[in-house]
Amino acid sequence: MFEKILIANRGEIAIRIMRACRELDVKSVAIYSDADKTSIYTNYADEHYPLGDPSPSKSYLNIEKIIDIAIDSGADAIHPGYGFLAENSRFGKECEKNGITLIGPKGSVIEAMGDKITSKKMMRKAGVPVVEGTDKAISDIDQGVKIADNIGYPVIVKASAGGGGIGMRTAYDEEELIKAIKSTQSVASTNFGDSTVYIEKYLEKPRHIEFQIIGDEHGNTIHAADRECSIQRRHQKLIEEAPSPIMTKELRKEMGDSAIKAAEHINYTNAGTVEFLYNKGEYYFLEMNTRIQVEHPITEIITNIDLIKEQIKIASGAELSYTQKDVVVRGHAIECRINAEDPLSDFIPDPGKITAYRSPGGPGVRLDSGVHTNYVIPPYYDSMISKLITWGKNRNEAICRMKRALSEYIILGVETTIPFHKAIMRNPYFQNADLHTHFVDQHKKGID
Ligand code: ADP
Repeated sequence: MFEKILIANRGEIAIRIMRACRELDVKSVAIYSDADKTSIYTNYADEHYPLGDPSPSKSYLNIEKIIDIAIDSGADAIHPGYGFLAENSRFGKECEKNGITLIGPKGSVIEAMGDKITSKKMMRKAGVPVVEGTDKAISDIDQGVKIADNIGYPVIVKASAGGGGIGMRTAYDEEELIKAIKSTQSVASTNFGDSTVYIEKYLEKPRHIEFQIIGDEHGNTIHAADRECSIQRRHQKLIEEAPSPIMTKELRKEMGDSAIKAAEHINYTNAGTVEFLYNKGEYYFLEMNTRIQVEHPITEIITNIDLIKEQIKIASGAELSYTQKDVVVRGHAIECRINAEDPLSDFIPDPGKITAYRSPGGPGVRLDSGVHTNYVIPPYYDSMISKLITWGKNRNEAICRMKRALSEYIILGVETTIPFHKAIMRNPYFQNADLHTHFVDQHKKGID
């Protein structure tokens, strides 16, 4: 087992990882930018070191500085959490050069799965169903038009290097397609430094269903069941639940086997997620996330597997603590992402000082949070400040508990997504599990 783990992240996920370290009796190291000098997460670590300038490129994305701190503090491993450097293959290589274990899959796997064109190609080869489209970059507009004519409208133009819902645009005809190619290329170039785009069929009302994968370095791979993440805004998840309300034993076996096949094909190790779009009885590989997901707690709750501790153990060379047979789904869990955003103004971020804070609790409630009264949410980073998770013996109980927990949750001083979540929990279509990825747009009136 490692002696000391540096957590290359901030906020709620840093606390989550530090908690796992403490339970494993491993020392932890926090890093913080000037904007996080008073952030509470640093108190959960055994040591903390400053990064200085708050801009992400100079702080949580500063590979050289973070490796230097790891060396100075004597950390023998780094956990990247999600976001920031979590899927940065250069970070993996630098860690390796310095004899530090990066808790996650191999750098080459991160690199291959980070490129959507490469990952689709590999999954097609593995025999996993993928969304219809070409597995090649669009070189010019004429070629794009031909490809879209072949696939049939509507189509979606995607940045190969895209992520976080950025670099995606739909087109319902040729005129829209030409605009979509140009704008996606420019967004991709600005955000990812790579203007490569490709086209695939746009599924109009799919469900987003994903599988949690865990693989060790001894050739064992299992899935820890499924999650449904169809409640999204701007292609980003807002509410997740596990298991998917439409999941049957047979479908879980089929999709789970596909997810394992995807992972085994690339010799995947550690925790990862295989994302699918599900439409009218068919499912298609969307992408593989080579890190722990924001929504991992709902899987932990229904399977009783501590995914972060499992990640740490696997990275230290241990065998998986579970076989596929040990994965038993118990009840239902829902996660609401609490973001400092104004849901009535198109979810624009609303950073600032939390003037009053009261957290919910009671039976079946888990809160992963990084904030408190008088905490100032910095404008530099993600607007997610906490995750409210409820468990119930069935979906209805999980929803009732979520309604109750949301009504107990008080955050004043900034706008949050709490009113949005309250409206969704009351929505009869949500209650009936009549979900798809455009749910929020379609039901906006009811939510407003
Ligand atoms: P990112 O890497 O930016 O998260 P993904 O490829 O995972 O992007 O897609 C995010 C979301 O975008 C999906 O959950 C879905 O809502 C939507 N999406 C992506 N591809 C398609 C498609 N071919 N058809 C319909 N919706 C899509």
